[in-house]
Amino acid sequence: MSGPFYFDYAATGIPDAEIAHSALEESLAYFANPSSTHHLGKAAQQRLEHWRARAAKTLNVQREQIIFTGGATEANQMILLRLLLNKDPGNTHIVAAGFEHASVHESLLTLKHAGCKLLWVNPGNDGCICPKDFLAQITPKTRLVTLMMVNNETGAIQPAAQVIQNIRSLPHGNHIHVHIDAVQAIGRIHLNLHDLDCDSLCLSAHKIGGPKGIGLLYLKNPVPTLLKGGGQENDMRAGTENLFGICGCVLALEKIQQRHAQSRSHEQLWLSRLKDMGATFLPADRAIHPENFSQGIIAFAFPPLPGEVLMRLLSDRHVYVGTGSACGQNKKDRLRALTCIGIADKIAQCAVRVSFHEDTPLEHSLQALDILEEIISDQRKILNF
Ligand code: PLP
Repeated sequence: MSGPFYFDYAATGIPDAEIAHSALEESLAYFANPSSTHHLGKAAQQRLEHWRARAAKTLNVQREQIIFTGGATEANQMILLRLLLNKDPGNTHIVAAGFEHASVHESLLTLKHAGCKLLWVNPGNDGCICPKDFLAQITPKTRLVTLMMVNNETGAIQPAAQVIQNIRSLPHGNHIHVHIDAVQAIGRIHLNLHDLDCDSLCLSAHKIGGPKGIGLLYLKNPVPTLLKGGGQENDMRAGTENLFGICGCVLALEKIQQRHAQSRSHEQLWLSRLKDMGATFLPADRAIHPENFSQGIIAFAFPPLPGEVLMRLLSDRHVYVGTGSACGQNKKDRLRALTCIGIADKIAQCAVRVSFHEDTPLEHSLQALDILEEIISDQRKILNF
């Protein structure tokens, strides 16, 4: 077998063909603008509401609490950048983890520029936020906290439920908007939003086999946003609704939520073979306490072999893994996520991330690991490590 062997699911999933076909049929059958008041527009509107109701049912929330967005970047920014509407930025404190996704991190920097006060919480070197550290940063002026549920670089599962519970126990805890980025959690952790007392949470369809450019924001209560225009999505996200994407997003969400027991067979295989090869796990805890990590993401390095070089060598052999992309911004971002858990720059530069899916054939992992082993053995001779 010569591949392709795809291990970059944390970047994007392989589209589910059945879902793509259903979404296409839906968008062809109901092509009218849902805002048009003629029969065809009303029919499209009904379908839109049908998908909204199904998404709400899957997540165990109310239909009107689901906002379809153009992906998770947009959803994160909707929630964060609306604080720019706040008339008193100096009294707006925001608490966030240091390793948030760029779509959160960059929005936070914009808010800082506008005068809001940012309080960062750095995770421990196990890659996890400590709920007490998070709580210690909350002040009576805290308006918003944001936390990802599973880290996209390391797979570390964050104690989001505990953080929320701690915040709610404060006298002003119910006035703090708690936003959760669950993009890497969905499919790895069963989500029941009824039990998770957050104010908003975002998901992205393309990470779970759905189309790109579509996502979903759960919003407990309506909030003013900056995306004004035609009043769609309860006046919070203007723009003609993408019925193709919405249908694909909801079908992918339903499918992934129906999976219960998640197999750890790929993870066990990769962990044990990587240990044998002498890989440095990022963080080291990844191999010691796998239960604290998503089974679908493993980050490792073979210093001093740069991650970019290892990724290209693997790519030449049709094994596709993730690493800091050629784009400078992404590269900087990966380093930020790793160095903030205490990993030295020179090790973080060597990071490679493999991410897989339940349906990835085990044979693919076996073949990819054989190829990786050959590459590492060759590079050890060349670089003498
Ligand atoms: N949040 C996390 C944790 C992610 O991993 C990603 C994508 O990589 C995003 C947000 C952005 O999602 P989207 O591609 O839908 O904009």
